[in-house]
Amino acid sequence: MKNYNIAVIKGDGIGVEIVDQALRVLNKISSKFNINFDFKEYLMGGCAIDATGNPLPDETLKGTKNSDAVLFGAIGGPKWDNVERHLRPESGLLKLRSELEVYANLRPVAIYDELLDASTLKPEVIKGVDLLVVRELTGGIYFGQPRAKEDNRAYNTMVYSRDEITRIAKIGFESAMIRDKKLCSVDKANVLEVSQLWREVVDAMSKDYPEVQVSHMYIDNAAMQLIRNPKQFDVILTSNIFGDILSDAASMVSGSIGMLASASLGGKVGIYEPIHGSAPDIAGRGISNPIATILSAAMMLEYSLNEIDAANAIKQAVKKTLELGYRTTDLASFGARQVCNTTEITDKILENL
Ligand code: NAD
Repeated sequence: MKNYNIAVIKGDGIGVEIVDQALRVLNKISSKFNINFDFKEYLMGGCAIDATGNPLPDETLKGTKNSDAVLFGAIGGPKWDNVERHLRPESGLLKLRSELEVYANLRPVAIYDELLDASTLKPEVIKGVDLLVVRELTGGIYFGQPRAKEDNRAYNTMVYSRDEITRIAKIGFESAMIRDKKLCSVDKANVLEVSQLWREVVDAMSKDYPEVQVSHMYIDNAAMQLIRNPKQFDVILTSNIFGDILSDAASMVSGSIGMLASASLGGKVGIYEPIHGSAPDIAGRGISNPIATILSAAMMLEYSLNEIDAANAIKQAVKKTLELGYRTTDLASFGARQVCNTTEITDKILENL
């Protein structure tokens, strides 16, 4: 029997409830596919600040580095909004990404036909959308120095080296090669020097991938095009901050932010997490949608553990559950057969697995 060590970080807010559901699904995968998961739980974010005074305790960092993969929920919440920046929950997550060197964040966006009426966008605009956002994750303005908040002035630095752009662009091109061979690089090269270098690197690399059709788009236009005609995109390659914002916008194409999974790759250990946050507005009510986290667990099986059949089984079980009309509150619409809470929708997914 194969054995995998999985570091589990539930985090704050709805993080706890959604990761619990993903673990139920993985436990069923374990018995169906004869795989053993050794789950070890670690603290990060607000709960870690409360317990240890540190958003990323050493034990968590060490445990994740020694694991085969990290399954993560979400961190943050109003309780920790006013603590010093280096002690904020988000600082813990940024440090974890940096320490694990997961510079490539893959965020697939697709729409299930059953959810066409759940999106605020028109069905004919979103039917058939299947795109991938490749977001740079360990550089750019979220990490750049110098940065400071003074009394009457504050600043951040958006910085990328040629090497950082080259390695993420390579992931973008390689992803396009196994998809529809279209790559749209999103930047702000009309204003930012850092984007001019980004564009230069992407153009130079395009010579190594002659089959890939490359285009460039400014971030402001990309935000508009994503809502106007999302079907024009195959792979979107972009920087840390632009990818953060664009993929939240893209989530509405899929019906709800509670549907979008992600994989953060590049180092030895990958991190798998939903794209959404800790949703303090609904935390503790048991109504959050766990599907993004369950699909993140499927990405973990696929990318880190190479358990492709198991990953596909989860994806099919989710699809079947939606086909049968079961929905969480965020997706509830006239087509819903039953509106389920967090546990009930997972019960249905388990039945279909
Ligand atoms: P959010 O993604 O937590 O929530 C945005 C909206 O989407 C809310 O109305 C929420 O109820 C809804 N939502 C999100 N996930 C859902 C789900 N699974 N099911 C149903 N509805 C869902 O973003 P926010 O409100 O801007 O941020 C809340 C906190 O999360 C902040 O502290 C922020 O810093 C943090 N955050 C953490 C991460 C992360 O851990 N990776 C990412 C983004 C935000």
